[in-house]
Amino acid sequence: MPLEAGLLEILACPACHAPLKETDTELVCTASGTDCGLAYPVRDDIPVLLVDEARRPA
Ligand SMILES: [Zn+2]
Repeated sequence: MPLEAGLLEILACPACHAPLKETDTELVCTASGTDCGLAYPVRDDIPVLLVDEARRPA
């Protein structure tokens, strides 16, 4: 199923490849037990899955 695989890949953290959880304004890395946890902004309904654009957890 190439399409589903592609969608899953889109919704993975580019830094650690963990699944992402959607919030109102961000896609948040769900990795646990690591120091990732980056939050990616969604601009104009388009997720910006770039590590350089991500917000680091406080
Ligand atoms: Zn991550």
